[in-house]
Amino acid sequence: MEAMVESLNTEKFLKFWEEKFKDPTCEMCGSKEWGIDETLGKLTPFIPATENITFPGPPQINGSLGLVVVFCENCGNVKSISRKTIDSWLQEREK
Ligand SMILES: [Zn+2]
Repeated sequence: MEAMVESLNTEKFLKFWEEKFKDPTCEMCGSKEWGIDETLGKLTPFIPATENITFPGPPQINGSLGLVVVFCENCGNVKSISRKTIDSWLQEREK
């Protein structure tokens, strides 16, 4: 699994973005300028997928969802895209 995670780069993410988001207009402000979290989910917080959450604490990796954060450059509206979905898409393309 680690190899898959390492294989994602900004260029590949942009291909995913262009294919999946046909009209990437910010629904809040109408801008089309988006910024990407360049760690591509490596350093972003994990959202625990279980209900057994205790805070404060370190990010939980097991049972968590890796997210790539994309944000509107104009108003700061944030999109979180599941790393799992991106990795599956990449895996399909690179077969
Ligand atoms: Zn916006």
